[in-house]
Amino acid sequence: MSAPAHAERFSLAGRTALVTGARSGIGRCVALGLADAGADVVAWGRTEAGMDEVADAVRARGRGAEVVTADLADLDAVRAAASELVERRRIDVLVNNAGMILREDAVTTSFPDWQRVLDVNLDATFLLSQLVGASMLTRGSGSIVSIASLLSFQGGVRVPAYTASKHAVVGLTKALANEWAGSGVNVNAVAPGYIATDNTRALREDPEREQSIRGRIPAGRWGGPDDLVGAVVFLCSPAAAYVHGHTLVVDGGWMGR
Ligand code: NAP
Repeated sequence: MSAPAHAERFSLAGRTALVTGARSGIGRCVALGLADAGADVVAWGRTEAGMDEVADAVRARGRGAEVVTADLADLDAVRAAASELVERRRIDVLVNNAGMILREDAVTTSFPDWQRVLDVNLDATFLLSQLVGASMLTRGSGSIVSIASLLSFQGGVRVPAYTASKHAVVGLTKALANEWAGSGVNVNAVAPGYIATDNTRALREDPEREQSIRGRIPAGRWGGPDDLVGAVVFLCSPAAAYVHGHTLVVDGGWMGR
């Protein structure tokens, strides 16, 4: 079998990508980046608000766009929306991007708050991977990329539920890859460093935290959501056909310090 030409290795032409949390931040940039690489996009939002704008931006790139909405904390709604989607549409790429953070001491974190973070960041990631992954396994091809975190490796400050969920996302990525690599389905993760989005607004608005974080980043700056696009497109592309169970850190050098 001859190898694809260089440009084709990174092309997603003819594929359809489902991206959760596509309204804002990293998810929005990734959705548009996947469209730039040739994919049609199904943009998953918590509600309809702001989703038309993302779909229009995908269409402006000459790609097809559809919006699906469900609150990822409502696992029955997730199951219903994802089942309906894979029933009628082939999904070649799943990006489990949506996530929430709760900044609270462990000792005062309420169990419902803990549970909500785990539901959105981990349980919904598992459920979507299972439902979309099943159709990929039937076809013998597909790519799943979940957005992890530096707190998949470190403990973090006052974010116990978030840290637990993101450690678990990396474990789940390896577990799914072990089961599915032999069936043509690539499961990987991307761990962003400190990225300027709504998720990190509180940190950036605290001058002391902002400075101490920036001072530890060898690249000398916070990342932008665009910094994640290349890594996600790569892991979804034919170029990553032999990459399984990997978590690609995109952090301006933080973890090496
Ligand atoms: P963001 O702008 O706040 O984006 C989070 C997205 O997730 C939003 O579109 C949000 O939609 C969606 N979302 C949250 N809860 C949801 C729910 N219950 N149901 C459906 N959608 C939901 O922040 P971001 O930084 O781009 O975050 C994207 C991912 O990167 C997250 O998994 C986050 O943990 C991860 N990450 C971020 C950083 C960073 O430094 N920014 C670092 C490491 C990892 P709504 O706004 O409509 O609720």
